[in-house]
Amino acid sequence: MNEANAPPPFDLLLKGGHVIDPKRAISQRMDLAVAGGRVASVDKGIPSSQAQRTVDASGLYVTPGLIDIHVHVYPSHCNLGLVADGHSFSSGVTTMVDAGTMGGANFADFKRRVIDQSETRVLAFLNIVDIGMEGDFEQDVSRMQAELAARIAHEYPEWIVGIKCAHYWTWQPWDADHRPWDNVERALQAGELCHKPVMVDFWPRPPERSYADLILRKLRPGDIHTHVFAQQFPILDGDGRVNRILLQARERGVIFDLGHGMGSFWFRNAVPAIEQGFLPDSIGTDLHTGSVNGPVVNMQNVISKLLNLGMTLEDLILRATVAPAREIGRPELGTLDVGAEADVAVWQLREGRFGFTDCGQARMAGTQKLECVLTMRRGKVVFDPAGLTMPEWQKAPADYWVCRRPKGAPETWVPHL
Ligand SMILES: [Zn+2]
Repeated sequence: MNEANAPPPFDLLLKGGHVIDPKRAISQRMDLAVAGGRVASVDKGIPSSQAQRTVDASGLYVTPGLIDIHVHVYPSHCNLGLVADGHSFSSGVTTMVDAGTMGGANFADFKRRVIDQSETRVLAFLNIVDIGMEGDFEQDVSRMQAELAARIAHEYPEWIVGIKCAHYWTWQPWDADHRPWDNVERALQAGELCHKPVMVDFWPRPPERSYADLILRKLRPGDIHTHVFAQQFPILDGDGRVNRILLQARERGVIFDLGHGMGSFWFRNAVPAIEQGFLPDSIGTDLHTGSVNGPVVNMQNVISKLLNLGMTLEDLILRATVAPAREIGRPELGTLDVGAEADVAVWQLREGRFGFTDCGQARMAGTQKLECVLTMRRGKVVFDPAGLTMPEWQKAPADYWVCRRPKGAPETWVPHL
């Protein structure tokens, strides 16, 4: 075949969009080409003749597919669980990290039923409790098995990114079987054994179990406190300034994840903290059946909320791509590096009158809303509600105009109309 007849090298070209790739400090108008499921080129002025399909992305933002570091997607195990693919792509999310819905005793089941069945890349923090969430068994310290968790984490290194502990002894009196730090200490022990970070959902009960002790003494650099703007934390001091212990903990390398959820995002904590420059390190949504109809709704709603609190789009994309990738030890994710799997999201930033809510049923007005308009996973278009990659119906190709052979029907099948 001579060069004039050679097929164009790129499968798809997103042309003229504003590319934000925080890993490479890119935030400018560029073209992005995809071939063979991977990012093939990010450059200015890639000609349309080089691609089989070209999408006009002018006026839109183009980012890596987002990483949601805190979700619950194990519906067959407990009623918190959502179906991953039903909530990821429509929000530009291509990687979801389940935060401990399962533990060491049921990870294999989670892998078979969720990870292997999902087009979304699903990773996991393994709960220190052997069967994860959610029930009275989470209070049984004998089920918090560090050796089991570490062994399973070693067995499935491709999917398990850390250890989770949550929901432990929030109000009951201490006793010999329930000491203040049992679940945190066992999770940290598992983290030591498998060399992975620990994500902590925490309820402070000073003086025996204080937040300062958690973030200044217990957690190691790289460990993650999720739900940072929840009501139960002393985010502000008596003068309304960000509490020094948060700054000291950040200095030590402790990570603060948003972990919005049903109860863990309050404007009264988030607004002053963000105004004073204390931004969450990553934007986990804590999406589950209890938060999906509000106040979380989805990743794009959470990002929009924070945009209206004054964070920039670059700040936010960073915290939903490279930052969580670093936290989970997967630096190859969350970037548009040439050669990376082509997980890509395209966005429209709408201006208007919008409203946002927090976990205390309080409201905030806003003027900007980010809307996902296209998502690709491994170079395949998985979300395209406005048909950006499709022809006008009148110009659709020949096979559009006939009744297509049903899936599984023999080659000899003919339509009877
Ligand atoms: Zn959660």
